[in-house]
Amino acid sequence: MTDKILGFIGVGRMGSHMARRLVAAGHKVVVYDADPRALQKATSEGASAAHSPADVASQAEIVMVSLPTPDIVKAVALASNGVVAGSKAKMFVDLSTTGPRIAIEVAKGLEEKGIVAVDAPVSGGPSGAEKGTLAIMVSGPKRLAGELTAILGAIGKVFWVGEQPGLGQTMKLCNNLLSATAIAITSEALVMGTKAGLDPAVMLDVINAGSGRNTATADKFPRCVLPRKFDFGFATELLYKDVRLCLEEAERLGVPMIVGNAVRQLVGIAKALNGADSDITQIVQPVEQWAGVEVKSGDSKRGKLG
Ligand code: NAD
Repeated sequence: MTDKILGFIGVGRMGSHMARRLVAAGHKVVVYDADPRALQKATSEGASAAHSPADVASQAEIVMVSLPTPDIVKAVALASNGVVAGSKAKMFVDLSTTGPRIAIEVAKGLEEKGIVAVDAPVSGGPSGAEKGTLAIMVSGPKRLAGELTAILGAIGKVFWVGEQPGLGQTMKLCNNLLSATAIAITSEALVMGTKAGLDPAVMLDVINAGSGRNTATADKFPRCVLPRKFDFGFATELLYKDVRLCLEEAERLGVPMIVGNAVRQLVGIAKALNGADSDITQIVQPVEQWAGVEVKSGDSKRGKLG
């Protein structure tokens, strides 16, 4: 295990669990968050608090971030009180979803100060972060693989996808395009079946034993939609950002995204109607409203024989 102090900036829905797991793994962790309540929660769980990103980077050699948007990551890395202004940091590990363009820009900006940037976006949601079962998509210099894999092992499984800055981010955008598509198309299928008279719980049982199974049918719908809890823990505006970044990158690469554009529209409509901070499992609600039915658990025995 490294005896280096770890910095962690952004202890929200994902970062709070990751920072806590790093503390539990025996690391000294210094945290910063713009929200004092998030900061306070992290310090109550064993981390120590810093006053700014630069302060974190003056105490820690390895600085990790889990922040909402590409612009915020860029500012936290490169602004005058950012990581770049710290006196100790040697490595910047971005666990957020920011897209490859910003990853490349941030890597260039930090390189001038001798700080190496590594992409390490994650998949698995807050429950994966809590359990330490995230998929972590790392790209950066191979010589760092041993040290980083040992540290990141506390929060999930490390996949080393390349050396170039941005490749880990591209991997994450491909993953989230699929994840968003699963929610969008499952919404349409479940609303249709429910309106026709099928029990959505029975539908999910059938789909999950058949070829329609996906992460929405296997987890998000049974756990968050049918009980009407809508508590997966990922804000619609952040998923919209991921799909937008993916489509921008696809356009740059000259790859058509016909289905992806339709998914972007439905996620955008959900963001507008339900609110930016609504849960991604509420994407089903505009489809429900248009169709005039709700996809929810009931006491229906339809579909069950015997
Ligand atoms: P979140 O909004 O819950 O947490 C972000 C944290 O960053 C908040 O505590 C906020 O106060 C803090 N913050 C914002 N601006 C800041 C600044 N300038 N300086 C310091 N702190 C600042 O978001 P989240 O759901 O934890 O997501 C974080 C990142 O992880 C995003 O890029 C998201 O796309 C990605 N992600 C989220 C999930 C998920 O299911 N929630 C899954 C995988 C990846």
